[in-house]
Amino acid sequence: NQNISELDPEIAAVLDGEIARQRGTLEMIASENFVPRAVLQAQGSVLTNKYAEGYPGRRYYGGCEQVDVAENLAKERAKALFGAEHANVQPHSGATANAAVLHALINKGDKILGLELAHGGHLTHGMKINFSGKLYDVAAYGVDPETHLVDMDKVRETALAERPDVIIGGWSAYPRQLDFAAFRSIADEVGAKLWVDMAHFAGLVAAGLHPSPVPYADVVSSTVHKTIGGPRSGFILSKEEYAKKVDSAVFPGQQGGPLMHVIAAKAVSFKVAASGDFKARQQRTIDGARIIADRLVQPDLTEAGVSVLTGGTDVHLVLVDLRHSQLDGQQAEDLLHSVGITVNRNAVPFDPRPRA
Ligand code: PLP
Repeated sequence: NQNISELDPEIAAVLDGEIARQRGTLEMIASENFVPRAVLQAQGSVLTNKYAEGYPGRRYYGGCEQVDVAENLAKERAKALFGAEHANVQPHSGATANAAVLHALINKGDKILGLELAHGGHLTHGMKINFSGKLYDVAAYGVDPETHLVDMDKVRETALAERPDVIIGGWSAYPRQLDFAAFRSIADEVGAKLWVDMAHFAGLVAAGLHPSPVPYADVVSSTVHKTIGGPRSGFILSKEEYAKKVDSAVFPGQQGGPLMHVIAAKAVSFKVAASGDFKARQQRTIDGARIIADRLVQPDLTEAGVSVLTGGTDVHLVLVDLRHSQLDGQQAEDLLHSVGITVNRNAVPFDPRPRA
């Protein structure tokens, strides 16, 4: 039982180097966070040794009495935090959660309607070479070319024309709030199910600083590692009506043994997310993002071709629009990296240099 620095000095050096990097740079990537020590302790624990295929009380392995407690705590805390009827806390990641959602709701060849990838949607919402684009018939709505906002009248028009089986609300890169009630009424009008992917803004929802999709959506998926600030992983909330389908889509539909050390860490982060400190931190995150957006909407920057999509933000992220700048996204990312600020470039809607 050697210490890692003795057993594997090369990997120990990576860990030390990464701590130094995280401490010495300003991390501005909206999908990243810093987890509490207790999350690291749960995740780096002996629970990694345990197989636990199945669900609490219904496992395919013996010796699950402790991990059952952890998974039940994670489930109950997730349900309480978001006011959900059902929670599945086993997805290994946001992408596998999303695969399970579609697996639970529809069949191969059925139609999905989500936000266009280049307008802020996610790979799992219908990208061509993702499972979602390969298994399902994909239609998309976009943002308005002038306002860069999702226009619900346009979403309705597209839904009426396309008649999707599932409508997806949610995004990877969009600085405003979506109208979940309008999504619900469109889904009802066209007979579609509504799935909201709140991977990015789940922490804001937990803190009560962003409208919750839970009362409106049939199923809600999320990551735990973005604004929630927990372990790298996913979870799914649903109405009771979909509970069995969601559970069987996750296991055995998508996954084998759940990562019980990660599930214990999810339980810890859901506990943290219910606290007053967490709410204050989410408020500071939004305030900070708004200040950054304000500083970037200045006449000298506008003259240099730098602006902010939608003119500001209501969430934790800011999308800088470089379409009229000489700098492209890659150059801006590299330049900021050279002064110790870590960001990620993204395509913006109607981008003439989408890959730069
Ligand atoms: N859903 C959305 C909206 C995301 O932004 C992301 C991650 O970027 C995911 C799902 C996928 O999460 P993961 O990277 O854990 O697979």
